[in-house]
Formats: sequence, C-alpha cells, structure tokens
Amino acid sequence: MIPKEHTMTFNEPASPATLVVKVGGGADIDLDAFCDDLATLIAAGRRIVLVHGGAERTNAVATALGHPPRFLTSPSGYTSRYTDRRTLEIFTMVYAGAINKELVARLQARGVNASGLSGVDGGLWRGPRKTALRAVENGRQRIVRDSYTGRVEQVNAPLLRTLLDQGYTPVLTPPALSQAGEAINVDGDRAAAATAAALGADTLLLLSNVPGLLRDYPRSASLIPTLTAAELTLSSNDYAQGRMRIKLLGAREALAGGVRRVVIGDARRPAPISAALAGAGTTITPADQPATVTP
Ligand code: ADP
Repeated sequence: MIPKEHTMTFNEPASPATLVVKVGGGADIDLDAFCDDLATLIAAGRRIVLVHGGAERTNAVATALGHPPRFLTSPSGYTSRYTDRRTLEIFTMVYAGAINKELVARLQARGVNASGLSGVDGGLWRGPRKTALRAVENGRQRIVRDSYTGRVEQVNAPLLRTLLDQGYTPVLTPPALSQAGEAINVDGDRAAAATAAALGADTLLLLSNVPGLLRDYPRSASLIPTLTAAELTLSSNDYAQGRMRIKLLGAREALAGGVRRVVIGDARRPAPISAALAGAGTTITPADQPATVTP
C-alpha cells in the first residue's frame, strides 16, 4: 500500500513556494536597488508577490493639499491614520495611483511583468469596515465615527495564483474593499500577512527603514536576530512602539496562518530582499515552545 503522505503528494502537488515581500514607503529607501534585487530573484525563478506602503508620501501630499495627517491611538496602544473620506481619497491617490504605478514601471523597465492591483480590484482584499473606532486622546477615550478603515479578512488567492501562473508579478496596495463595497484603508503589513497566509507562502518579508526589531530602538546594535512566535507574544510590547507594534501583529497573524518564517528587515541596504532571505534582520519562526524567554 502507498503511504498516505505519498498519495497526498501525488494527488495534490504543492504549488511552487511563494514569497510575499512588503516594502515600506520611507523616503530613505532606494527603490532602484530594491527593484534590481526583485528582478534578479524573479529572473532566477522565484514566485514573488509585492505589497507596498506609502505613509510618508501620503503625509506630504495631504499636508500640501491642506488636509494634514492625523493619527489615532487605540486603547490597546496601536496607532493608525485617521481616515475620513477626504483622507481616503488622498490615500488612494498616493498608494494606488502614484506609488503603485511608479513601482510597476520600475519593474517593467527591468523586464519584470509587474501588474499593479489595489485591494479593491477583483475584490482582492475584503473585510469589514470599522465604522466606530475607540481612540485615546489626552488620556480620554472617544469614539471616532467617520472612519474609512478596516481589516482584511478574505484574500482572492485564485486571482493572485492566476497572475503568478501566467508569469505576472502582482504589486499590491491598500485600499481594500469593505463588505458594503467601499474602499477602506487597511494596514499594509497585516494585509501582506493575510496574503502570505492565503497563498500558503513559505516566507513573508516585512522590509522598512530599520535593521529589524530593535530591543532598544533606535540603537542598531540592539537588533534581535531571531525570535519565536511565543517569545514575540511574551515580550514584543515591551520594546516595540508605534508602527512596529502593528508590524509584529502582522508577523503573528502570518505565522498563525501557516507561514513558516517572517523576516523583519532593512529595505535601505543593497540587495535588501536577498539579504533578508539570507537572515539579515529579525527572523521570526512559529515554534510553539520558546527556546529562551525574553525578559
Ligand atoms: P513602514 O511604513 O516603512 O513599513 P513603519 O514606519 O510602519 O515602517 O515601521 C517601522 C518603524 O517602527 C520604524 O521606523 C521605527 O520608528 C518604529 N519602531 C518602534 N519601535 C521599534 C523597535 N523596537 N525596533 C524597530 N523599529 C521600531
């Protein structure tokens, strides 16, 4: 008799391992170096889905348009962009317009058949809009009601697989689509995590403008090279502040969704994707039992 695992391998060939890369929108990130590296990896046969951010540029454009950015802090300490209807318009213009098309063009110039999609297109990222947000301001809680934000609950993985199978490299960006068919601002790191989980990706890279998770931010020498998901749960809130806390939440969600490795790495270095794949940055793995408990 054929052992069960062999039958399964035979009947259900695993689709080729996919890599999901999220790149932040920091002004100090060299997108040419990033795209050179991506093009080299794709030419070598890697299946890659790219997700990008754009927070800094959105802040600058919003300020120039007379609608400066505002940020909300939730009672549990997560910060997010206050997104009213006007902010959503500006956000969509910058993320899904300017930055997405610039990245696609840069990749096309390098022979990568990149195809840009926002989470709205093809219902790629769907989830509930959170119409009432609790925020803490000056130590007091208040409810924010005119918010176009939410979170990704469903990923149209067949659409991404179709593109990948045909040789396209998907370049993804918020906004996502609410259940009522509205565009909503969602966190890019968490959307990338949901995408990696839905595609059964083996690795998720979260690349931004820091060397990785720092125990003593901003001291680079305090980089934490490896962590397990359990250690992350126990200790991350002690040293991660602001946006890094949401990145770590994304990392936890990806691992819980079956992704085998999340690397928080530096997008500013030469060949940033290859470096993160080789272990530069903070590598987080799903082992149930922490090897050491971080104080
Ligand atoms: P991006 O928008 O490029 O994805 P974010 O701004 O969301 O990146 O997250 C990275 C930021 O998190 C860093 O620029 C840094 O200011 C902040 N941060 C807070 N605590 C830490 C920490 N312990 N280690 C590293 N970065 C941290």
